[in-house]
Amino acid sequence: MMWFKRFLTGCAVLSLLLVIGFFTLAPQWVDRNANVVTGGAGPAPSAATLALHQQLLVGDLHADSALWGRDLLTRNTWGQVDLPRLIEGGAALQMFTTVTKSPRGQNYDRNASDAADNITLLALAQRWPAAAYNSLFARAMLQAERVHTATERSSQLTLIRSQTDLSSLLSQRANGQRVVGALLGTEGSHALDGELENIDRLYTAGFRMMGLQHFFDNRLGGSLHGESQTGLTRFGIDAVKKMHAMDVMIDVAHSSEATVRDTLAATGNAALIVSHTGFQGHCPSPRNISDETMALITEAGGLIGVGFWADVTCGESVTAIAEAIRYGVKRFGASHIALGSDWDGSVTTPIDAAQLPHLTQALVDAGLSEADIRAVMGGNMARFLKEHLPPT
Ligand SMILES: [Zn+2]
Repeated sequence: MMWFKRFLTGCAVLSLLLVIGFFTLAPQWVDRNANVVTGGAGPAPSAATLALHQQLLVGDLHADSALWGRDLLTRNTWGQVDLPRLIEGGAALQMFTTVTKSPRGQNYDRNASDAADNITLLALAQRWPAAAYNSLFARAMLQAERVHTATERSSQLTLIRSQTDLSSLLSQRANGQRVVGALLGTEGSHALDGELENIDRLYTAGFRMMGLQHFFDNRLGGSLHGESQTGLTRFGIDAVKKMHAMDVMIDVAHSSEATVRDTLAATGNAALIVSHTGFQGHCPSPRNISDETMALITEAGGLIGVGFWADVTCGESVTAIAEAIRYGVKRFGASHIALGSDWDGSVTTPIDAAQLPHLTQALVDAGLSEADIRAVMGGNMARFLKEHLPPT
């Protein structure tokens, strides 16, 4: 029975290798394959564009970079965002959004609330602490901790929680320091684990933007990609009222149109954020809400972050992003349009954070005025934060 013993030993060794591979290689392998840069950045920016880009205040409303466990302070050869690339791209502000649940078989049309969850597998591979298996709140806090740790280890990355923090970042930048402000947001308020008090806890941890839904209906109400297409529940109404009262910016990027209308009603027409999206009128896609609903948001002073991936721009290149932005500027007004890349959100994009000057070039080529380019590349985001962050 020697062969059988050898067979068993072989199986044991193979299993061990698979286990080691799962814990060491799988998280990075998934990250590398989920967050791809295509190289559709177009030609190198001109000297005039680079000079313009250097004067811009550049900001982005959505990146899921804290999910992957990648060192945010090291320049990585994969993924789309880290501090060195943000600095190289001339970025001043980056919202880091925390992903806590993502349904197996995720699609833009219809996802069940009780579908198996992909993040649990990632949590296992990254060996997250036990709390993060059962609690989505713990998952948001774990990713926030990664951003906190990065800001503590770097003098060039700083957490923005208030108007005071923002002012000091902007004056540092005005003095020529290449510092980047990090903000924290949630991707879906299932991260509250059904407790309104968790809004306070997330706020204390520095969260200043809270998304209401992700790909499925949750306790707050209907998702744009859920089964019900309903609006806010009673709990959802209480939650958005509490967020609004606490100066938490509300993100409806994955919410059903009914949820958007209910949120406007519950908050007395608060200025909402759609942190990463495209426009139905430019790119008919189940990922984009109707222009009519978008108009309700912008008429109430809202801010729309234009995404960088093909499902929202209907194109693979940086020109497609510029075209989506140009459509938004014409349809809703330049003061309501911003960047919402969705970098590191399991999307393929033509540029990474280091290549932001290519987007400025594409906006120049699309015929946007210098004032409009200033506004959409980050001026609007900075103004919106000044208006909506708590004073101190
Ligand atoms: Zn998203």
